[in-house]
Amino acid sequence: NSEKIAAAETSSSSPGFNYKRVVEISRPADVEDARLFLPIVTEEQPIMEAIMLNPVVVICGETGSGKTTQVPQFLYEAGFGTPGSDNPGMIGVTQPRRVAAMSMASRVAHELSLTSSKVSYQIRYDATVSPQTSIKFMTDGVLLRELANDFLLNKYSVIVIDEAHERSINTDILIGVLSRIINLREERWRAKEAGAKPLRLIIMSATLRVSDFAENKTLFPKPPPVISVGARQHPVTIHFSRRTSPDYVKEAVKKAAKIHSRLPPGGILIFLTGQNEITGVVKKLEARFGEKSLHARRQKRAQAALNARMRREGEEEDETKSANPSQVALEVEDIDFGATRGDENIANDVDDGMLEDDPEALDTEGEEEEDALNEALGLEESDAPMHIVPLYSLLPSDRQMKVFEPPPPGHRLVVVSTNVAETSLTIPNIRYVIDCGRVKERKYDTTNGVQSFQITWTSKASASQRAGRAGRTGPGHCYRLYSSALFENHFEQFSEPEILRTPIEGIVLQMKSMHIDTVINFPFPTPPDRLALRKAERTLVHLGALSLDAASSVGGMVGNAKITDLGRAMALFPLAPRFARMLVSGQQHGCLPYVITVVSALSVGDPFLFEEAINEKSDEEDEEDDDEMVTEKEAKRAKRKAYFTSQHLHSSLGKHISDVFKSLSVVGAYEYTGGGAKFCAEHFVRLKAMEEIHKLRAQVGNIVRVNFPASDPKTDTKLPPPSEFQLKVLRQLLAASFVDQVAVRKDRIGADGQSKGVQFANAKGVPYRAAGILEDVFIHPSSVLIDLSPPEFVMFHELVRTSRPYMKGVTVVNPAWLAKLGKPLLCTFSKPIRNKDGVMMVIPRFGPSGWELPAIKAADVRL
Ligand code: ADP
Ligand code: MG
Repeated sequence: NSEKIAAAETSSSSPGFNYKRVVEISRPADVEDARLFLPIVTEEQPIMEAIMLNPVVVICGETGSGKTTQVPQFLYEAGFGTPGSDNPGMIGVTQPRRVAAMSMASRVAHELSLTSSKVSYQIRYDATVSPQTSIKFMTDGVLLRELANDFLLNKYSVIVIDEAHERSINTDILIGVLSRIINLREERWRAKEAGAKPLRLIIMSATLRVSDFAENKTLFPKPPPVISVGARQHPVTIHFSRRTSPDYVKEAVKKAAKIHSRLPPGGILIFLTGQNEITGVVKKLEARFGEKSLHARRQKRAQAALNARMRREGEEEDETKSANPSQVALEVEDIDFGATRGDENIANDVDDGMLEDDPEALDTEGEEEEDALNEALGLEESDAPMHIVPLYSLLPSDRQMKVFEPPPPGHRLVVVSTNVAETSLTIPNIRYVIDCGRVKERKYDTTNGVQSFQITWTSKASASQRAGRAGRTGPGHCYRLYSSALFENHFEQFSEPEILRTPIEGIVLQMKSMHIDTVINFPFPTPPDRLALRKAERTLVHLGALSLDAASSVGGMVGNAKITDLGRAMALFPLAPRFARMLVSGQQHGCLPYVITVVSALSVGDPFLFEEAINEKSDEEDEEDDDEMVTEKEAKRAKRKAYFTSQHLHSSLGKHISDVFKSLSVVGAYEYTGGGAKFCAEHFVRLKAMEEIHKLRAQVGNIVRVNFPASDPKTDTKLPPPSEFQLKVLRQLLAASFVDQVAVRKDRIGADGQSKGVQFANAKGVPYRAAGILEDVFIHPSSVLIDLSPPEFVMFHELVRTSRPYMKGVTVVNPAWLAKLGKPLLCTFSKPIRNKDGVMMVIPRFGPSGWELPAIKAADVRL
């Protein structure tokens, strides 16, 4: 057992095992001082004993207690990662976020007085790793991908999985895989294989909710010890808002302005949901309180003062005396923020705490803001400028590091961040937290497999982490931009693990690429739905990413399908497999810029306004879209306009009927003409959606360029219209990627291709049959196909159910392609059968091998 391992290794006998440091290090004096205040430092002995005596240890501790910076140092001093020691393999530390991996590596290097080649990081595109590396910080995705090449992780002697409470999908999968790897490594070591050493696993969490790991018997039959580290946390006063304003960005600016002008020094940390909001707020605050704007105002004021003084010659009064900071501070202590703890009763008066429209509140909102700002500016003679720093994952890393730099003397630090500052990074000297209460989360629609990012309420656990950031240096305040009633009634206790809101296809593909063939038996900390797993495998088989051998394909079982070369290429993309599939083959046909655009548009969702206007059942859309609503008639006009007036694409698109091309055309036109609000108004598209598509397109473009260095580096932002040939190829690519989402016109099922069948005037109400779906499905009224004679075969992007099951994102496909493209897939519709309810249905049949593509060489696809 593990105790024996430890005993044997250290030639000391349990239970009187005594842990000793074996590597000498010298830390800078200031670091030594700072360490004295970290709660975890006094726990070094018990932590290291537990690690030496157990293959798996769980460490919990408040954010800022020193887990991330200190535990790797404990391990290093104990000899881990040092050649010639008992545990020469590297110390691997995973983080869910890139910024944390980078900043923690540099911090630990600094604390140990070691170089960045000794304490390194590796993220997707960037690494400082060298043969000398002892401690390696990396994103969980990096380690996951390393498993594909070195399943036993032989380079490592210990793996630290940090931020496990976040339950990122990669972290969850890593913990599952590692629970098996530690056994394999131990077996090899016991069998005295040359060079074999055991691997240790340390799971670190900022919350005490670790039962999914620690008490999960499939994961760890012998429960690992859980060590809790005490916190040094000062009290934080929580202030709820009386009302929950939908415009939390504006509220955040207001609140920051108030704090800055009225409350004593101390950093402000603002939690928002994403880059756009953050840059907006930074700009606003910069304009009002930034060094430059204050400087300009000061000059103006100085000039005014000078003029005044010249006017009242002889007077000796020194104006600067009125600006005594301590007076101001005293004055403001008792200012009512209108949102203090005592407001909970008031907040409860707000019926359900949902985003309510209070006309009065809304009417005066603009004025209020002005008032607040004027007040703020009025006090500014005494105040400091703000030092405003944004923090989000897409920010260039050198700019991310700025949060750790002390602000210039006399400035107030204001960090405007996503939830990256929630637990991953401890920003020093924060005294005030402004929490918008929302988080941008990936959502997954299991019905169509498409992911989206949505802004939702965060969890109670997250809210409390955010508040906690204010109490690191001293007592602090947290201003929640939502009511306590909303918090009580609408916030979940914990955030949902990512695995339950992420497409399983991607994970399954990733696991298959690690040679985990029977995914269903995998020890997930939170298992995904079994049916979802099977469906995912089936989809991957359709896409050619997995293949069935003859034995396993009997009876349509796909439980242990194996990955194909195409699947391996697809696994390299951090995208849903359908989209990766399109990108991999789009490269070969010179259609890449269009495929990227299509993939981005499909991911963001339909940008056209008329969708909502026509669809009478969609009463759940964003409030902010309300004023953009148009009548059905207008909408129909808009539909035509948007589709047919995208001039540069119009002529060639005409022959290739697809809703997807409608989006492609509008994105093309948007970028061609320079876009903007005017364009959107004229073409009845949503500006927000257009901006999102534009951004996503740039991102995917970046990834593809890195993955395919040979492709055209100037994938122009101004997309030229696709050629006739490219449009045809695009339709084929769509058909190939959604080959399991093909529908056939009901009256044509079983037709021999010669008979003419029924003639329809248009597609309204014409029934189709889709594989695997028991009811008739219909083309959505918003489709560009709706007024045309209904095609025999169509591919659809998603199926929405309102009054009927409607296909959206419809593309006309040629049945000849299906036979040809689908040759190995044999997705045939020619053999309708009756199910047990007597309903005619068609079922797809799958061929024996994967998708046949013109050769993709692994060398063409690089990370
Ligand atoms: P935990 O992982 O438990 O949340 P950390 O190890 O990240 O805690 O942080 C421990 C302490 O180190 C905190 O007080 C934090 O402010 C400090 N710290 C971390 N990174 C840096 C840095 N780059 N610069 C200065 N201080 C830092
Ligand atoms: Mg940490």
